[in-house]
Amino acid sequence: MGQVLDGKTVAQAVKDEVAAAVAGLAYRPGLATVLVGDDPASHSYVRGKRRDAAEVGIESIHHEIDASVGQDELIALVKSLNADDSVDGILLQLPLPGDLDGEATVEAIDPAKDVDGLHPFSLGKLMLGRPGLRPCTPSGVLRILDHYGIETAGARAVIVGRSFLVGRPLAMMLSERGADSTVSVAHSRTEDLPAVTRAADILVAAAGSPGLIGANHVRPGATVIDVGVNRTEDGLVGDVDFDAVVDIAGAITPVPGGVGPMTRAMLLSNTLRAAEARRAAP
Ligand code: NAD
Repeated sequence: MGQVLDGKTVAQAVKDEVAAAVAGLAYRPGLATVLVGDDPASHSYVRGKRRDAAEVGIESIHHEIDASVGQDELIALVKSLNADDSVDGILLQLPLPGDLDGEATVEAIDPAKDVDGLHPFSLGKLMLGRPGLRPCTPSGVLRILDHYGIETAGARAVIVGRSFLVGRPLAMMLSERGADSTVSVAHSRTEDLPAVTRAADILVAAAGSPGLIGANHVRPGATVIDVGVNRTEDGLVGDVDFDAVVDIAGAITPVPGGVGPMTRAMLLSNTLRAAEARRAAP
């Protein structure tokens, strides 16, 4: 049976590091959370992020806004948070309801406070291989691999999913100097997915399709990282058929308890980095 990679333990290690660093600061880093509308999943995500922040000594400044807000008003709020010196990071919970433009709102965030790493400026820096704030979920995937000593250098990595949130930035990050994997990106138009994924030493599923990855997709001994979070009648499941794959994989993340907690922990780590960089700036 493959090793089960415990995201909760690794996330706790990240949180402990952040808490220790925050305790040594002369100020309290501030994370502004912006939640628009009444989507229950979004509310629960933001509650979790605020709880995490409190745990490590980061102050969260919460803005809960009615779905009837105008686009201009929302952008004005983001700009006021950009100008607020006590705010080091801005988290805009996506997706936005109705006709509100998520992309335009993210673009209004000061890149120095872009702790989700999804501003075009941050993604551009990633593309250029320059230091910057990286998206939380791909950062969490790299951190979990690092924690368990899974070698990325020279590994063949296959990522299933090409979204700007997970698949594409992760492909860049795994192929960056330092990580040094040879990366392929599969997606909904990929032909013969099992043949592509069976080539992987590291297989990352980020498709949002429950049970997409089965036994015939996985090479014996491969590391399988399941990013998928799908709400089904059987509860929360990933993109990987865990029971079918666990005996073939060398290592595998569960859902829940794998990448999810890592994403949350990396947001705290980004908030600390943003605070340190911003407050050190002349
Ligand atoms: P998305 O819908 O934006 O992108 C999905 C990608 O998967 C697309 O590029 C699509 O081409 C590909 N895809 C879909 N079906 C496929 C198939 N049958 N074969 C091959 N490729 C296929 O989704 P996203 O925002 O990238 O999220 C992906 C999954 O990860 C979702 O389940 C989401 O809930 C989850 N997620 C989890 C975390 C976390 O913290 N664990 C964070 C972000 C997203």
